Amino acid sequence: MRRGGPRFIDVHCHIHDEEFDGDRDAVVERALMRGVEIMVTSSLSAEELQKAIGLAERYSCIRVAAGFNPSNTYAYEAERLAEEVRRLKHRLVAIGEVGLDYLSIKGNEREKQRSIFNFWIDVASEMDLPIIVHSRSAGKYAVEMLVEEGCSRVLMHAFDGSSGWALKGASKGFFFSVPPSIVRSQQKVKLARALPLDNLMVESDAPVLAPQREERNEPSNVAVAAAKIAELKRKDPLEVSEVLYLNAKDFFKL
Ligand SMILES: [Zn+2]
Repeated sequence: MRRGGPRFIDVHCHIHDEEFDGDRDAVVERALMRGVEIMVTSSLSAEELQKAIGLAERYSCIRVAAGFNPSNTYAYEAERLAEEVRRLKHRLVAIGEVGLDYLSIKGNEREKQRSIFNFWIDVASEMDLPIIVHSRSAGKYAVEMLVEEGCSRVLMHAFDGSSGWALKGASKGFFFSVPPSIVRSQQKVKLARALPLDNLMVESDAPVLAPQREERNEPSNVAVAAAKIAELKRKDPLEVSEVLYLNAKDFFKL
């Protein structure tokens, strides 16, 4: 057992992804060795949800969030999945990721996407679960909708919008999780600088958003994101990690 070092919660990853089917034990072990105590894996479909729940039974460090691919605009599929999600409530720590992806969805389809996002916001509040939100090229719209719906337990993951809109969300108590790609993204640097530490968490979004472009990402890299945040805030890395850890622990009631 490791002692005395920083501890982390990876609040958003896809450790159930097939990218990890070949060496998941080793990936999880590396994360644990680096101080990652818990990994919240976000499913995007009914099939992924089943797989994620199976993994949570095998690995005590894995928790499950039930989400729906933000680029899927079939409302009946969302409704069918929601039935399953309600049934599995006791196995879940959050709804997500769900949200808006304006990069992949254009024109009239965006209205469908918005109404499905609204549907999941309702499901989360009905189930009394926090919500993990994906927003790509749609940060402003996602924050606007969540504020309008009066949501409070919100985690905006890998937020690519402006710091201004992030601060609006933060003023409503929203959290923002910073991925390891912050080491190569000026936008993420701006975001982490602008937001108070009390509104930040770290995520890997593994297998994507690695410190190095094109590399497979893994949960152990949340340490890279936390170190960068500490550097930007000019604070002790150990103290910063602990704040990020406690933010996540409270948010998910872990
Ligand atoms: Zn993700």
